[in-house]
Amino acid sequence: MSEQKPSHSAPLSNRDFDFFYAGLERQRLLVQRCGECRSLRAPPSPACPSCGSTVWAAVEARGTGTLFSYTVHHHPPLPGFDTPHPVGLIELDEGVRVVAGLDTIPLDRITIGMTVAAEFIRRGEVASVRFRQPGALREEP
Ligand SMILES: [Zn+2]
Repeated sequence: MSEQKPSHSAPLSNRDFDFFYAGLERQRLLVQRCGECRSLRAPPSPACPSCGSTVWAAVEARGTGTLFSYTVHHHPPLPGFDTPHPVGLIELDEGVRVVAGLDTIPLDRITIGMTVAAEFIRRGEVASVRFRQPGALREEP
């Protein structure tokens, strides 16, 4: 009997990241806001890097920003992803940065500083977010 492999790996979550993935299930891009100094942070962490407070709340980001940097994954193959697979570091308009796929943007159109917008998708059973060019036609995952 063979085991069926999932088409996409479920994200590795923990109590710091659970709110983020729960947000993706509701098509919301969530970041943390410190309960003391009010600074935003991403990726999630248990304490504020500015003041050390462990008090925080989840706030919704608009989902728009600019491409700060990117890489293109070629190898090894990842279940459910075509290669080459561009992955971006997006500076959100709120000032924090998130990592996400850029897989609807042709490689020759990807440029540092380009405007991008979040697109909520499902990769198999997994709620996810990727970034696309605003106004670009949506492409089915
Ligand atoms: Zn703080």
